[in-house]
Parts: sequence; C-alpha cells; structure tokens
Amino acid sequence: MQSPINKIAVVGTGVIGTGWIIRFLFNNKQIKVYDPSDKQKKFLLDEIKRTKQLLKKFYKKKINIDNQLKFCSSIKEAVSDADLIQENAPENEKLKIRIITEISLHTKKSSIIASSSSGLLPSKIQSKAKHPERILIAHPFNPVYLLPLVEIVPGKKTAKVNVVAANKFYTKIGMKTLILKKELPGYLSDRLQESMWRESLHIINEGFASTKDLDEAIIYGPGLRWSLMGTFLTFHLAGGEMGMKHMLEQFEPALKLPWTKLKAPKLTNNLKKKIIEGTKMQSKNKSISNLANQRDNFLIDLQKLLKKYKV
Ligand code: NAD
Repeated sequence: MQSPINKIAVVGTGVIGTGWIIRFLFNNKQIKVYDPSDKQKKFLLDEIKRTKQLLKKFYKKKINIDNQLKFCSSIKEAVSDADLIQENAPENEKLKIRIITEISLHTKKSSIIASSSSGLLPSKIQSKAKHPERILIAHPFNPVYLLPLVEIVPGKKTAKVNVVAANKFYTKIGMKTLILKKELPGYLSDRLQESMWRESLHIINEGFASTKDLDEAIIYGPGLRWSLMGTFLTFHLAGGEMGMKHMLEQFEPALKLPWTKLKAPKLTNNLKKKIIEGTKMQSKNKSISNLANQRDNFLIDLQKLLKKYKV
C-alpha cells in the first residue's frame, strides 16, 4: 500500500512550478524547491504574496511559508525524501529525459515522479529513468492553484498502482483528474486548444480577422457555453429535440466544407454511434429542455461574472 503523500519536491519554479507550489501550500504540504535560476525565488515569493489574500478565502486556510517551504541548491537535495516530485522544467524532450533521470537516481523507490509536460509522451520521459514504473505525466492548467483539471498520462512502463495513487493525491488536493487510457502527444485538452490555436493562426495570417476579433468570437459565444458543457453536450442541444442525432444529420455536409485547415475524420456509423451514445450518457437522461434550462440559467450568471471581471 502507498504511504500518504505529504512531502513534495517541485523542480522548476516558473509559471507552472509556482502555481503547483501555491496549491500545495494551501493543502498543508511540506515543499522542497529547486530551480537553477536565482531570480525564480523572487518570482515565487512575489506570486505567493500576490495571491495570498484571495486564496485564503478560496481555500479557507492559512499558510506558513517558513514552516512549509524550503529552497534547495540541487535536485538531489530537493527530492531525496519526497513522496511526490512535480517536475516543471521547460518543454524540451531531451532536457526532461535528463532531469527526470536525475530525479529518479536520488529519490525513494516508492515516490511518484510526475512531469507537468504539456504534450510529451511519458514513455519517452521515463525511458532512461531508474524505476520507471513510478513516472507519469500530471498535466495541469494555468493558474494551477485555481484551475482544477489535471491530466494523468501513464507511460508504457508506468505501474497501475502509481496511477491510482496519483489520482488519489491530486483529487485530495481539490483537482479534477482525467486519466488517459493511452498516451498520445498533446494529451486531450491541449490537442483541443492546439487545433483552435492553429486555426486562429491561419485566419490571422491570411488577414481575415484580428486577435481581438478572434478572442471576442470565443468570449461572447462558444466560450460561455464551453465552461459548462464542452463541445459534445453543446452540440447535443444544437440538434433541437432530436439532439446529437439531428445535429449530425444537419451538419455532416459541413465537415467537407473548407471551414478548417484540419482534416476531419470520416463520419462512419461507428463514430456516429460513439458520439450519440456518449452525449446521451453525459446528459444523464435529462430532456433537451431540462438541459437547456440549466444552460440558460448558467449563462445568465456567467455573463454577470464576465462583466465583473472583463479585461
Ligand atoms: P517557465 O519557463 O515559466 O519555467 C520553467 C522553469 O524551469 C524556469 O524557472 C527555469 O529556470 C527552470 N529550469 C530551467 N532549466 C532547468 C533545469 N535543468 N532543472 C530545473 N529547472 C529548470 O515554463 P512553464 O510555463 O512553467 O512550463 C513548465 C512546464 O509546464 C513545461 O513542461 C510546460 O509545457 C508545462 N506546462 C505549462 C503550462 C503553461 O500554461 N505555461 C501549462 C501546463 C503545463
């Protein structure tokens, strides 16, 4: 049985490493920190100062930096007694393999080593490490101390018991875990974000719109709905009383239109079935009008929030 995870090492304290540290602090963890750049210490302390009051209310907890946080001068010093190591070095495969391997040489065999990589394959990252069965990806979203999602991606050599332990740990610190069945580059969320990003770059490059136009095209429309329902349930409602089935019938021809530079897959019967059944399951047998009411109420509240926090 895995022991509880209380001692944490954070390697790399840029935007994401710092975000993790703040989340860990508010979850009463002991954290040892390593970053080769001296100026990152100031960045981290400034970020803690900036967010402290807001997060005290959010987490309903106080933190004690002197007791909980220790700065270290080497990877070895930071990781040697850690139960979990969160690696947040720059997104570079060679560098990550090197750092993860170094971490693996200096940790307890039972500790979990998690990389925050945004899309690299865990099988690659664990390829040279000692005891690769405890290495996995735990991909968060910025700001880590507020956004709950973390994608857990096991590599070919990752042991199930460690995926289970990681899942339990991240859930316990208030996160929404998504465990990927199989590793794929970019995982789930970043593949979705990336497709829109690439499309946006095409549109801008060809002079059809400004970055502001494209941001507004999300902020005042799809973005409001996405934060509640994602793409599939949203499109389920777009199909009227017939839901996703009608939506697919109506918009199947659009998949052939030159609306995107990405190639859509062929809408086979098998794919249609998966999508229709998936959305049916997601909607938990609620009627379209019931779901629509829920969505509308949410959108009204969300727009009040948007007004309040609009940049
Ligand atoms: P960043 O550039 O802000 O921070 C990287 C940190 O790594 C820096 O503080 C740097 O000094 C440190 N570093 C450099 N070499 C190192 C080494 N040899 N050992 C230890 N630390 C080293 O980058 P970031 O945005 O925090 O990204 C870190 C990781 O998190 C990347 O893998 C990235 O893909 C992932 N990630 C980023 C985001 C995001 O929105 N920025 C979201 C999710 C995941």
